[in-house]
Amino acid sequence: MLLSPVSILAVTVLSGLMSMAVLGSLRSAAIPGVTYWIGANAISIVSFVLFAMQGHAPRGITILCANGLLAYAVLLVLHGCRLFFGRRRAWWPEYAALGATMLAIAYWTYDTPDIYVRIAAVSAFHAYIYMAVGWQALRARPPQRPKYAYRFVTIVAFLGGAGHAVRGLTYGFGLVQQHTLLESTPLNIAFLGLGILMLPCMSIGMVMLAHDRMAEQLERLANVDELTGAVARRAFLAQAHAMAKSRKGTKGRLFMAIVDIDHFKAINDKHGHASGDLVLAHFASVVADNLRPCDLFGRLGGEEFAVFFTADEGEAAAGMIDRLRVGVSASRCKVADAELSCTFSAGIDEYRDGEPLADLLARADNALYAAKSQGRNRVVPAWSLDLETEGAEPL
Ligand code: GH3
Ligand code: MG
Ligand code: MG
Repeated sequence: MLLSPVSILAVTVLSGLMSMAVLGSLRSAAIPGVTYWIGANAISIVSFVLFAMQGHAPRGITILCANGLLAYAVLLVLHGCRLFFGRRRAWWPEYAALGATMLAIAYWTYDTPDIYVRIAAVSAFHAYIYMAVGWQALRARPPQRPKYAYRFVTIVAFLGGAGHAVRGLTYGFGLVQQHTLLESTPLNIAFLGLGILMLPCMSIGMVMLAHDRMAEQLERLANVDELTGAVARRAFLAQAHAMAKSRKGTKGRLFMAIVDIDHFKAINDKHGHASGDLVLAHFASVVADNLRPCDLFGRLGGEEFAVFFTADEGEAAAGMIDRLRVGVSASRCKVADAELSCTFSAGIDEYRDGEPLADLLARADNALYAAKSQGRNRVVPAWSLDLETEGAEPL
């Protein structure tokens, strides 16, 4: 009794309501696609109620409307997914396929009643939708995000697609004997269970996706400096630490450069704080454009930044930062009343295996201090200072 088709429908309606409640709580986060997923659940609930009325209401309602609404609901799930992943939402052949499925249902309900062909047609449409959802989740996962939610959606959707495909083939080739949709045969219950429990499972997956997107947004807020787009200080230190730790066994040597804009206070004083902000953002974009994806660029605070990067040797590392210096000084930043340029000074040193990052930062800072006192707009490696000290006459 518990496994009768009607009780499966009732459970699905309840879980659809719960999915709507959970997805509803995510609406305020304005995540693309969520509204579509809520709509899909609402429409599917109506369709399940109509399905359950079979034998008690006209076929136009319990077969045509019920199937049409459910097919539209799964189409909305797919469109919500596309929006979520930043793709174009709708594709017209999908509407055409929905229309053709509806015509097929009408034809094989009224003109030539045939439940097998009808189920095969509906299953083919659902199989396509689920496969398309699974494909989206598989292909469009942002590479740096945890895989769990995306894998879950992919697996559930592919299972659903495969289930519908098998159902369509089984009925299409007349491998089962059945007269109405809600018959309590084991095979029918299995297919019906798979088919209609799919939507709540997908909703759980959609909730996972939406949560992952919110986590990504929060991580971004916490880890990225809003004004410059550079990695914020705390995240920079954490990521540099992780880079240093994972370096063991790799060939490249690691270097830290501390980069400080020259006479920045004068820019603020002369052109105003807002213009100073523009210069900071401009400086950071020039630097970011000239770095490699593997280089870590962070804002330590104020107009002081740091780059943690690999190079084969000290000379190459200093050369790289010096090219940044030339690039920054050659660039111009438009502010309200002028076109400004800026220069920076940098101190640089090499990471020594196992040392605390604070030690490396202190040596690079020391070199930066030397660069400032030598006249600014230059890159000073800490090891050149060591050489000077070694070569100095004892007092
Ligand atoms: P030096 O060449 O010795 O580095 O001189 P400086 O003027 O660049 O250095 P100083 O440390 O004296 O001044 C840094 C200034 O940067 C002071 C502070 O008001 C300004 N500043 C720090 N953060 C921001 C910011 O987010 N926006 C703006 N517009 N100014 C900032
Ligand atoms: Mg400065
Ligand atoms: Mg400074």
